[in-house]
Order: sequence, then structure tokens, then C-alpha cells
Amino acid sequence: MKLTIKMIAIFILGIVIILCFDGYLSMQREVSFFEQDMKKDAAVFGRAIAKPVLHTWERDGLDSALELISEANREDNPVKIRLILLTECEAKLRPIIPQSELTDVAEGREVQVTRERDSRNGLYCSYIPLTQNKQVIGAIEVSESLSYLNEYHDATVTRIQVLTASLVLLGTIYIALFGYLLIGRPLQSLMERVRAISSGEMRQEALVHAKDELGELASALDEMCQHIVRARDELQAESNAHIDALEQLRHTDRLQTVGRLAAGIAHELGTPLNVISGRAGLIAKGSLPPDLIIESSHIIKEQSDRMTGIIRQLLDFARSRTPKRHATELRILIEQTIKLLDPLVRKKKLQLDLTSQLNDLRLMLDTGQIQQVLTNLFVNAFHAVDVGGHITVEYGRKLGRPAGQQSGEDQVYGFIAVNDDGVGIQSDDLRQVFEPFFTTKDVGEGTGLGLSIAYGIIQEHQGWIEAVSEPGHGSQFTIFLPLDEIEDAQT
Ligand code: ADP
Repeated sequence: MKLTIKMIAIFILGIVIILCFDGYLSMQREVSFFEQDMKKDAAVFGRAIAKPVLHTWERDGLDSALELISEANREDNPVKIRLILLTECEAKLRPIIPQSELTDVAEGREVQVTRERDSRNGLYCSYIPLTQNKQVIGAIEVSESLSYLNEYHDATVTRIQVLTASLVLLGTIYIALFGYLLIGRPLQSLMERVRAISSGEMRQEALVHAKDELGELASALDEMCQHIVRARDELQAESNAHIDALEQLRHTDRLQTVGRLAAGIAHELGTPLNVISGRAGLIAKGSLPPDLIIESSHIIKEQSDRMTGIIRQLLDFARSRTPKRHATELRILIEQTIKLLDPLVRKKKLQLDLTSQLNDLRLMLDTGQIQQVLTNLFVNAFHAVDVGGHITVEYGRKLGRPAGQQSGEDQVYGFIAVNDDGVGIQSDDLRQVFEPFFTTKDVGEGTGLGLSIAYGIIQEHQGWIEAVSEPGHGSQFTIFLPLDEIEDAQT
């Protein structure tokens, strides 16, 4: 509706400007024609009467000439004619215009003078000289009040004003009506349609059936909605198919993991069980000497402990407990872990350095879980390096992006990196190191659960873990942990 009002205002303003301009010009023209007519009539009239007056004056004297003139002046005639003298004379024979302005008449030329042009008393005078023996003896004065001209002017102004007002009124009604029907109402419908689209309602139709641009816009809008609905349906179908496929994949993956787990458990528990069964069988036969019975019992105990250890690790792996996080000073946590592992470090004469550019970096961590992760990484590094090998631990802030996340910008995370100059990992193995039961170690030395447990714990902390390695030159395992909460906690 606001648009209609604006259109009306602009249109009416245009009409008013054009009408006023046109009215002004035609009024000027008409008034000028009127004035010219008036002057021409006065001159013709004056010249026509000049001759008989001069003739009468010459023949019968001045009084007869004056009488002739007074006869020519009728009461209702707006044009007044007088005989005037250009010399000192009585008042009734003096010209209306001061004699000083009539020097041209005295020299025998006609003169037209307009007095007080724009006032109510305005007057137009025309002087026709009366010549006798090349001597100007007087003149005919034709005067006419300009009130007629001014009245005509006023009437023209009023006519133009009435015409303009009527056109403005009619134009307003006309444009308001048709503006609403042709523009306002269809636009309102289109607006409602657009609002409905923005709130997700695509199926409703825009109720504009006109065959103009707005109608075309409405059809284009409907067409666009149909496209969107179709695209949305297709997208939905594709996404459902994608989800189904993913679900299928997950299912296959789950089966694979269960299979691998079962094989791992069978392998890890099979050997000690065989040993236990064999030794128990020997004891059961009752033919073993006492010292061998004691030895077999020790072996049975040892193998049972090993199985218990494996089962405990399996439980750790399977149990996904939510980390109980609190602000933890990273340097202290790493130092404590290193201290726990000191006997192993000394036994293998290793060099273990902790480096960082930062003195303190507090992260929200489950201390026990992260210590378990660090222990796994350290122990793997100890296994990988030779006697006297070198291991460095570094922590700080680093730009990173979670593995598998393609889009988005890198963000700053807290990190702990464990580097060693050990044997390194073959690229085929590197892809599998985080899988449960993947191990390259001998039976009894590794279960293949350490890194998979570490992986799960870091994931629970909303972080991730990366491994890079160059076979023969060493490996680096880096843990990334989110910073935001910590920084919030620090401020
Ligand atoms: P485990 O140590 O019981 O074998 P892990 O899950 O901790 O189980 O490790 C899986 C495998 O990853 C190891 O057997 C080893 O082959 C490889 N690995 C892990 N850390 C390192 C390392 N720092 N250097 C070389 N190989 C490593």
C-alpha cells in the first residue's frame, strides 16, 4: 500500500507541475493577446474618429468638435475618447498622462502609454495627433481601464486552479483505485507468498493471476518453489540413501571389528589357556613329582594373571566412561607420568626430555585417563628405541583441524607430542596402529590395545590423535585437545 501512495504522490506531483507550467504559459499568452487586441482596437478607433473631429474643429470650431466627441462617448462603452490640447489649457482639455511624456505626440507621432499596469486603477491610453498645416493642434486620447484585463487575468488563474484541483482529485481517486487493484493487491499477495517461503511453506500458490509483470513474477515464484520442493525431496531421498548406506557400512564395520576382537581374544587367551590346561592335566594325573607340581602351579598362576591382565585391558577398552575433567596443569601431569616410568627409562639408559615454550598450560582433562594415554605412548616409544635411545615430549598450543574434517578453518588446540628416534612404523602398519589388537610385538609383549584405548580416551575429550612415522628414523604421536574451555577457566 505504501508503494501505491508513493506512486500517487509522484504522479500527482508531476500532473500539478505540468498543469501549473502549462496554465502559466497559456495565461501569459491569452493576456498578451487580450492586451494586443485592446491596443489595436484603441488605435483603430482613435484614428477613425480623428479625421471627422479635425474636420469639425476646422470648420465649426473647437466647441463643435468637443460636442462630436462627447456624442461618440457612450455611457456603457469602456473606451473613453477625449479631445486634448498639448498647450496650457483648462483641466477638461488636459491629457490624463503628464504632458512631459507626450513630446512624441507634439511632434506628430502616435503614442501608447500604460499606467499602473498591475493595479486596479490601471489605465491604457492611446494618443493620435491632430495636425493642421503640419502643426499639431491637439490630439485624440483613447483611454481604457485595465480592470477588464486584470479581471480576465484573475478569471484565467481561477480556471487553471479549478482545472488542476479537479485533475488532482480525479487522478488521485483513479490511481488509488487502479494502483491498489493492479499493483497494491498483487504485491501484497506476493509478499505473503515470499514470507510463507521464508518460513518453509513451499506448496501454497501466490494468488496473482494477472497477465502482467507481477503475474509473471508470481508464476516464476511458484516455479521456483516447485524446483526447491523437488530438489529438497531429491536431497532427502539421497540423504536417506546415504544414511542407509552408511548404516550398512557401519554394520559391516561392526561385524569386522567383532570378528577381529574375537580373533584377538582367541589368540591372546588361547595360548595361556593351552598352557594352563596342559599343566593342570599333568597335575591331575598325579604322577608329577612335588617340585614339578609347584612349578606347574606357578606357571598356571602366571598364565591366569596374564589372562586377567588382558581381560582388564579389554574391559578398559570396551568401557566408554565419560571423562571427569578438571583444569590440569599439563607440565605437572607429564612430569608425574615420566616419574612413574623412571625405572624403565633408567633400565634402558634412555634420554627423555620435556620441552615447551610455555611454562604453564592448563587444560580441562581427566588426569587418570590422559596419564594412561601418555603411559601407552611412552611405553611404545621405549619399545621402539634401542638402548640409549632418545625420546622428547613437547606440549603447547598449535593450529590444527580434526582428522577427516575437510571444511572450516584451522583452530588453535592444546597439544602433547611424543617423539622417538626408534624403528618407526611401516606405512601399511601406520594405518592400523589404532585398531584394537593390532600389534607387531611378540606374544606376551603387546596386546595391540594400548593405542586403540588411547584413541578412544582422546576422542572422549573432544580431541584427536595423529601418528607420523619414518621407518628407521622414528615416530611422532601427537594428541590434540580443545582449548576453549580451558581458556575460559583461566580467565
Ligand atoms: P601394543 O603396544 O600392545 O602392540 P599398541 O596399540 O600400543 O599395542 O601399538 C600398536 C602397534 O603400533 C605396536 O605393536 C607397534 O607396532 C606400533 N607402534 C606404536 N607406537 C610405536 C612407536 N613409537 N614406534 C614404532 N611402532 C609403534
